[in-house]
Amino acid sequence: MESSYDGRAFINGERTAAQNHETFDCLSPVDGRLLTQVARCREADIDAAVAAARAAFEDKRWCGMAPAARKRVMIQFADQLLMHADELALMETLDMGKPIKYARAVDVNSAANCIRWYGEAVDKIYDEIAPTASTALALITREPVGVVGVIVPWNYPMIMAAWKIAPALAAGNSVVLKPSEKSPLTALRLAELAIEAGIPPGVFNVVPGFGPEAGSPLALHMDVDCIGFTGSTRVGKQIHVMAGQSNLKRAWTELGGKSPNIVFADCPDLDQAVEAAVGSIFFNQGESCNAPSRLFVEASIEAQFLEKAVALAPRFAPADPLDSATIMGAIVDKTQMDSVLRYVETGKSQGASLLYGGEQARVQSGGFYVQPTIFAGVNSAMTICQEEIFGPVLSVLSFTDVAEVVCQANASVYGLQAAVWTRDINKALGVARALRAGTVHVNQYDEDDITVPFGGYRQSGVGRDKSLHAFDKYTETKTTWIRIDSPV
Ligand code: NAD
Repeated sequence: MESSYDGRAFINGERTAAQNHETFDCLSPVDGRLLTQVARCREADIDAAVAAARAAFEDKRWCGMAPAARKRVMIQFADQLLMHADELALMETLDMGKPIKYARAVDVNSAANCIRWYGEAVDKIYDEIAPTASTALALITREPVGVVGVIVPWNYPMIMAAWKIAPALAAGNSVVLKPSEKSPLTALRLAELAIEAGIPPGVFNVVPGFGPEAGSPLALHMDVDCIGFTGSTRVGKQIHVMAGQSNLKRAWTELGGKSPNIVFADCPDLDQAVEAAVGSIFFNQGESCNAPSRLFVEASIEAQFLEKAVALAPRFAPADPLDSATIMGAIVDKTQMDSVLRYVETGKSQGASLLYGGEQARVQSGGFYVQPTIFAGVNSAMTICQEEIFGPVLSVLSFTDVAEVVCQANASVYGLQAAVWTRDINKALGVARALRAGTVHVNQYDEDDITVPFGGYRQSGVGRDKSLHAFDKYTETKTTWIRIDSPV
């Protein structure tokens, strides 16, 4: 049975069908049922959304508002999310498969907090005056770039959108957001809530659709000034090419990861290290860019560590995402589930030893579920150690030497996050410095806050989300020279 969810695009303050009236099925990974039909936007719809965003920018209905007023609207927008928290959490769970418990406690709250935080910042950031000679005054000011295109993935649909739209809107830009075709519903609802909060029509538009049909026209658009992308490294590279092929729009990419988690024998608390290693890879069904998917354990504690890890794994058996006790839900769709299961087969065929899981689960539900899976005996050359699986699969490697493990941890095209567990402060700081990653955790893995930058080295992307650094992506820096002919 189809739900009452509205899958139409949101352009210039209104719900609207795609111009050619095409739609696509929005299926729930929870049980495979049809949730609703979603507008299949293409180039003409992107043009309409960009034109609306451009008009809103040029007449200054948003960027011309006093910062304090823009702040109030942003905070109201955040409040709207919290007022509709249960509705949004349910929508996210049905659309994407994550446990309702986390959709409510993590996704809605983090997205609202992000929007509030950037809203709060709007009237607290000052521009600069350069220390030039007394014959001139040089003002260094920040201005919004104009129209910002945003393309996001499906794993944290609201949070990924918020990390980009919040700083972009707070800085005074107009935004055209293309959510993932696999989880478009909450983004569309956010656009309605933004209007209710007082964000003027045309300032925040949402165009659902497929990557090549809706994402590419946005990335290639000659009237889009900046593109903020989160997704795979494969598509991220295309985004930079499209930016260069068109108007050299600023392109910012948050991409894949294969994060190393290094546990030394002298880690302060072995149980805590096991909990974090297992809990972090299975959180969100392993569909997290920063999941610590490569676990390096010092050989002398490996047997003990693996025994504890395998004992914990059953706790993460997939269950009904709508049950408030569930901590591991459904994989986003059949394509992704099949891909995860193929990686499991590759791991086995390349000689890794499967310690736990590896099978599809809850087949009768009609949804898409994979058991928490642990491989030991992995080496760096194996596919499961090199490629991002984006599912609940942990690859465990053992090591004996500090220099060797740092070298192996860095032997990846990615550089998003990393962790080191040891009670030796010199080893912790030395290894943290040597790891090529945007974030390094020491003796924990789950600290996170809107106040810190998030992003990667190497092929994990270009630029940083979160924190005040994110404003750099959505503002231009202008220098204004003023001559001073001083009479004194
Ligand atoms: P994806 O690259 O397949 O898709 C991401 C978005 O790009 C979707 O909206 C998709 O429709 C769009 N897209 C696809 N092809 C396109 C094209 N040719 N032109 C323009 N847009 C196109 O990624 P995914 O499967 O949705 O998400 C998983 C990936 O996202 C993983 O690699 C994960 O690591 C990454 N991710 C990174 C971060 C981060 O902050 N670094 C956060 C979350 C997810």
